[in-house]
Amino acid sequence: MSMTMSHAPAHERSGIFHARALVNRGPEGLGNDRRHLLGLEYLDRAEILALLDDAEYDLAKLQRDRIPSHELAGVTILLAFFEDSTRTRIAFELAGRRLGAVVVSVTSGGLSLSKGESLVDTLRIFEKNGTDLVVVRHASSGVPEFLARHVGMGIVNAGDGTHEHPTQGLVDLMTLRQVWRGHFENRRIAIVGDIAHSRVARSAIAGLNKLGVKVTVAGPATLIPVGVEALGCTLAATADEALAGADAVMALRIQRERMERGLLPSFSEYAKSWGIDARRVALMKPDAVVMHPGPVNRGLELAVDVVDGPRSVVLKQVENGMGVRSAVLRRSARAIRERA
Ligand code: ASP
Repeated sequence: MSMTMSHAPAHERSGIFHARALVNRGPEGLGNDRRHLLGLEYLDRAEILALLDDAEYDLAKLQRDRIPSHELAGVTILLAFFEDSTRTRIAFELAGRRLGAVVVSVTSGGLSLSKGESLVDTLRIFEKNGTDLVVVRHASSGVPEFLARHVGMGIVNAGDGTHEHPTQGLVDLMTLRQVWRGHFENRRIAIVGDIAHSRVARSAIAGLNKLGVKVTVAGPATLIPVGVEALGCTLAATADEALAGADAVMALRIQRERMERGLLPSFSEYAKSWGIDARRVALMKPDAVVMHPGPVNRGLELAVDVVDGPRSVVLKQVENGMGVRSAVLRRSARAIRERA
């Protein structure tokens, strides 16, 4: 499907990286429709906390009971991943199956899209065949919202371009709530790296703001969006400045697939200036943790001994992934059933 100007979020329509994405709340806004999860920007504090509670409950249940429940029996979920994914896709698939839903999976290859059919027309085939819910990942920002406007199924955003990755944002909040023992107040997190291309950063900042966590971002000037403060964060000039006294750091992956040439002088220089190594970890509070959404480029965004070190919660983030995706699928399915 080719993206047109009409459904690309504002930060991409501008042609340069502006910080703010499309705001879509209010009576007309799809952000209020619980069949969908389009971004954390559209959820309020209470909705986020309720999802985190559900995710904790679901994770405990999934770890305890290996036998699928029947909670989503009769629900058909399409996983439509048009970009690579390991963690997100497997977590949605396992969560959907454990809840008793029928889960069908497609990628861009092998679909009629390659014959020129539009994404909407292709998805309407699935709708006609009884699909209730689509979990979509796409390289173009705005695709989930566009689909929510043009098909009748629930749409869950599993990452759209540089816009949002709401379930990753919930994973990050869930992980922080665990390590901070339920208290978000008076906490500060540093987010370091490629902010401009990062849907993970946008979702995290939106959620953290709603929970009252202070956010400092830092990264190479070429990878910081114009007006980044409008997202709800402060900008530090160096990684050391961002990390000093922080309660957590989130390193972001260098998004090679989204990057034009010339934005970084070299990867080794990046690692030196912005990579999180043991010295930088020591600048944070003694109990501060190190996060990364994955996949990690070891030795680039995080030093190898930091990824595997005692302060790393990277695998805890992965573990929380299934609880979050289970809670999100249940939320959409509930709203779909209420409508029916
Ligand atoms: N897995 C995350 C995403 O799809 C983070 C990344 O790829 O850097 O956005």
